Amino acid sequence: MVRIDGRRRDEIRKVKITRNFIKHPQGSVLVEFGDTKVICTAMIDDKVPPFLKGTGEGWITSEYGMLPGSTQTRKARDASKGKVDGRTMEIQRLVGRALRSVVDLRAIGERTIWVDCDVIQADGGTRTASITGAFVALVDAVNKMDNAQPFSIYPIRNYVAAISAGIVDDEIMLDLCYDEDSRARVDMNIVMTDNGQFVEVQGTGEKSPFTRDEMMELIALGEKGIREIIDIQKKSLGEDGNKIGTGEEVKI
Ligand code: UDP
Repeated sequence: MVRIDGRRRDEIRKVKITRNFIKHPQGSVLVEFGDTKVICTAMIDDKVPPFLKGTGEGWITSEYGMLPGSTQTRKARDASKGKVDGRTMEIQRLVGRALRSVVDLRAIGERTIWVDCDVIQADGGTRTASITGAFVALVDAVNKMDNAQPFSIYPIRNYVAAISAGIVDDEIMLDLCYDEDSRARVDMNIVMTDNGQFVEVQGTGEKSPFTRDEMMELIALGEKGIREIIDIQKKSLGEDGNKIGTGEEVKI
């Protein structure tokens, strides 16, 4: 079966990561999954939220947004309605959790890293592209801190990336574009590390529930995609990724 954009069912879109995309943030990336394009930035703030004051631990938090012109019909700005909508809240929390899962928050000290993901063009999979790009922006920001004042323990323990998979027209397929996503009867987002561990799996059979076998197949396909995507992150970071995983395990 050939898909609308000519891919095989187990094939990811062309993934491109452009680092140092904008001037001011310590880390900034343009990440592209086919026609989905997201700008991810990482900026350091020398304070932490009140619940962490005095603990010696840092924090990583994320915000997500879509430009009005990023979608086929204009997406109203969150601010114009006075509050963030549920989907946005869900996505920004997911991105924050994904990044925190691979960082030793004690090693970064009482600082907050703000990671902002702004979708400039949406064609499905914006949350998974956000996680994938945000990780690279985070590494760049952490390395700037490390260069200025080396960490005693390098804070980033693992790579993390994400991909979608779903069941469309009774076929299980990887990395859905919008056309596929809108027809999918099952939709799954998978977040994994480079050592093959899961950070989050969100599977939804809203249009029709799915079986355990289907779930396992979706996860297996996701795992294959994530391995390929982490290779792309590694190529993009080159030597700047060398310290990832070198920090000692911190016993809690
Ligand atoms: N989408 C849209 N307007 C919206 C939300 C989503 O056009 O307000 C499109 C967009 O292409 C997005 C896709 O629907 O990528 C799938 O949305 P979903 O909520 O599943 O999140 P995503 O797959 O982007 O993480």
